[in-house]
Amino acid sequence: MPDNQDFDFDVLIVGGGPVGMLLASELRISRAKPVVLERLPERTPHSKAFGLHARSMESLDRRGLLERFRDGAPSWNNGHFAGLDVWVDFSLLDSAQNYALLSEQTRTERLLEERAQEFGVEIRRGHEVTAVRQDADGVEAHVTGPEGSYTLRGRYLVGADGGRSLVRKAAGIAFPGTGGKVTARLADVVLADGEKAPMGMERTERGLLFCVPLDDTYHRVATFDFHQARETEGELTLEEFTDSLREIWGDDLGASRPRWLSWFTDSACQAEQYRAGRIFLAGDAAHTHFPVGGQGVNLGLQDVLNLGWKLAADINGWACEGLLDTYDRERQGPARKVLANTRAQIALMNPDPYVTPLRELFEDLMRKEEVNRHVAEMLSGVGVRYDLPGPGHRLLGDFARDLTVTTAQGAVTLPKLLRRGTFALLDLSGRPEISGVYQEWAEPIAWPGRVQHVVGVCEQEAELAGLLVRPDGYVAWAADKGAPPTEIAEGLRAALAAWAGTEGPGRPVFK
Ligand SMILES: Cc1cc2nc3c(=O)[nH]c(=O)nc-3n(C[C@H](O)[C@H](O)[C@H](O)COP(=O)(O)OP(=O)(O)OC[C@H]3O[C@@H](n4cnc5c(N)ncnc54)[C@H](O)[C@@H]3O)c2cc1C
Repeated sequence: MPDNQDFDFDVLIVGGGPVGMLLASELRISRAKPVVLERLPERTPHSKAFGLHARSMESLDRRGLLERFRDGAPSWNNGHFAGLDVWVDFSLLDSAQNYALLSEQTRTERLLEERAQEFGVEIRRGHEVTAVRQDADGVEAHVTGPEGSYTLRGRYLVGADGGRSLVRKAAGIAFPGTGGKVTARLADVVLADGEKAPMGMERTERGLLFCVPLDDTYHRVATFDFHQARETEGELTLEEFTDSLREIWGDDLGASRPRWLSWFTDSACQAEQYRAGRIFLAGDAAHTHFPVGGQGVNLGLQDVLNLGWKLAADINGWACEGLLDTYDRERQGPARKVLANTRAQIALMNPDPYVTPLRELFEDLMRKEEVNRHVAEMLSGVGVRYDLPGPGHRLLGDFARDLTVTTAQGAVTLPKLLRRGTFALLDLSGRPEISGVYQEWAEPIAWPGRVQHVVGVCEQEAELAGLLVRPDGYVAWAADKGAPPTEIAEGLRAALAAWAGTEGPGRPVFK
């Protein structure tokens, strides 16, 4: 058992937004002990994000959380790209969750916090991290809480503290990117005549208007000004907001009684590294971009699904060398692509009449199923695939689909097998080598909970001999039935050693 005496917690998580809360559960399910340090005494009542995309829903399903998120929440098949008149059709996705779910960020945060609480995670609200320092063995956070200041020591620290991340700055991680040229002003307001308000996104000569109803009384209205950068960093006022409405829409829509006013720009930046020694970044602390396409929360959740089990493997003493560095390697690419697609959307949304033919061309392209599917995969995260080492196979590095395996004990689905945050090894070969390699690997470890091993038949993948799926749902190894037995055995042996470790007793199975 690893020595825990010098540490208050295994992982200090700075920030209890959606990303920090999910990370806490991911660590706990993998037998590590995190603490969440959140400066807000209570969850904010204002939702930035509206929804969740397919890859998030697939991942939540692999932790048994899908039903909670779906419960009472509307879903829809369409999304928009740059506000084009041709919709993105999520039903084209090759995914069991081929839709977008309406889950306001406050709801998403509540559900993720409740989950962390069920796992017994210590969540300290009203505790602000003011400084971070690391040495060779651990990390210290200086915290100011309701009863004064104190210091906590952990093996690792993760900055999930949003776009202005103190952790990122303390770790000396550069945040290069493009500066903001477009100013968005957003308000949750009552409109004089909500029924007659424009719906969705409207491009005007000077910018864009975004307007959707939130409930029977309130609308979310935003103006995007492409011509003039905001001159102040101060808070947005109702007056400035209604001025921008008149400027962009020609009428202030009788907006009044704001319950939330906010502004932001299209600046898009990405941390040069997601790791500096014992400090990691995730979510908006690692990447920020214009919220067009609703991708930020989704991207951040995928960061911590990638990071959680790797950190826990290290803490539990069985991570192979270099495992923690794969986090940066795997997660930089998806964020780079999201930043690129949001920049492309901003370019297409520009009110300049010269852009109009480009929009029309894009609309024509979007009518083609292949193009529309590509855009749906991009926005939903379903197109994410990691470049993983190993013998080439069409599924390597891809997200494993919802396979069902018929075993001697009955049918079992892959999402269910992954619920406890373990690996899953599907032996579909009908031959001895895969289970033989697994037994030979598992015996000295004497910790059956690290890999869920099932033997059976999968009708959806009749050619497949075996599949090793990581806790985050991505395929670490796959082989077809036609492959030579020695190649199958060697490939699996190498993949188990590389990803699931070889030594280390691990900790008792977390209940
Ligand atoms: C208008 C708007 C609309 C959006 N719409 C969508 C959408 O539809 N879909 C989508 O996926 N994304 C959307 N986004 C983006 C999304 O809101 C962010 O990507 C998301 O909030 C990032 O989550 P996070 O946990 O990384 O950071 P945050 O949500 O920023 O959480 C960080 C937390 O850290 C805390 N914190 C900060 N510093 C400290 C400190 N020093 N000590 C302790 N605690 C600290 C903060 O209080 C905060 O609670 C939108 C953003 C905006 C602005």
